[in-house]
Amino acid sequence: MGSPVVVLAGGTGGAKLARGMLDVAGEDLVVIANTADDLEVHGAYVSPDPDLCIFWLADRIDDRGWGLRDDTFAVMDGLRALGADVWFELGDRDLAVGIERARRLGEGARLTETLAELGAALGLRARVLPMADVPVRTSVRARDAWTPFQEFMIRGCGEGPVQDMRLHGIDEAALTAEARAAIASARAIVIGPSNPVISIGPILAVPGMRGALVASAAPVVAVSPIVGGSVLKGPTEPFMRWAGHPLSANGVAAHYAGLLDGLVADEEADGLPVLRTDTLMADAAGRRRLAAETLRFAEGLAA
Ligand code: GDP
Repeated sequence: MGSPVVVLAGGTGGAKLARGMLDVAGEDLVVIANTADDLEVHGAYVSPDPDLCIFWLADRIDDRGWGLRDDTFAVMDGLRALGADVWFELGDRDLAVGIERARRLGEGARLTETLAELGAALGLRARVLPMADVPVRTSVRARDAWTPFQEFMIRGCGEGPVQDMRLHGIDEAALTAEARAAIASARAIVIGPSNPVISIGPILAVPGMRGALVASAAPVVAVSPIVGGSVLKGPTEPFMRWAGHPLSANGVAAHYAGLLDGLVADEEADGLPVLRTDTLMADAAGRRRLAAETLRFAEGLAA
């Protein structure tokens, strides 16, 4: 194995870039994924962003954008037939992943170990690490009420305006030895095009994370999740508005102030080197192209 290429990711934009980066960096790829969206439901421990990254990297992601391809939903149908309130859908095999993870965590395994075990079971060449082993949970205040993140997304349809957010448990979180080692020995660190506030924000808020990123000799670049001036999926707009940043490359750069050596975007930004390119990842070729261009840009900044 060579020097790692570290990608910080949420579940959609970051996961797609990670899949492209797998083609470019192979087993050197290390993804550090947001775990502040994790939840316990249906007797399972569900870790949506790391799971999406793993399913993407294993080429098992379903076309609907979440869950395993060709999964069945017999358990959810069975729960509904019993009158249960099935507000969080999981396919049968996806549920099996979460049940097995809950069992392993109950035995005392670390979240880092359970993700490595899932990766091995799906034949993954790259590594997906959680941002921390201890639980961190996002809650969001909207319409004058606080709700856990997944309920805000699913029951509340992710609708703003966002009035506030909190990361419960963040003060107790710590950088894992695995994440620290990957960052310290990285040849490039890429902040994926995920929601800067709700997906990347929790990763950067882990005590020790920012310091480790800044201290690493590797260049740090971000890929903007704003494509053609708008957001492709999810509530990036209301969260950027809450954070006080415009929905633009400049807004993304401002949000990551003090961290970046460069930005990859489809528009100009002020005050830092920008690789201006098509940032839409419509298919495998698009994902690979953006990952290759991003890595070349980052390594050029290091020279
Ligand atoms: P979540 O965890 O599923 O909410 O997703 P993320 O936070 O990882 O990703 C949401 C962000 O991904 C949105 O801001 C989208 O605009 C961005 N995104 C999705 N697809 C693409 C793409 O092909 N290119 C870029 N640059 N951003 C994308």
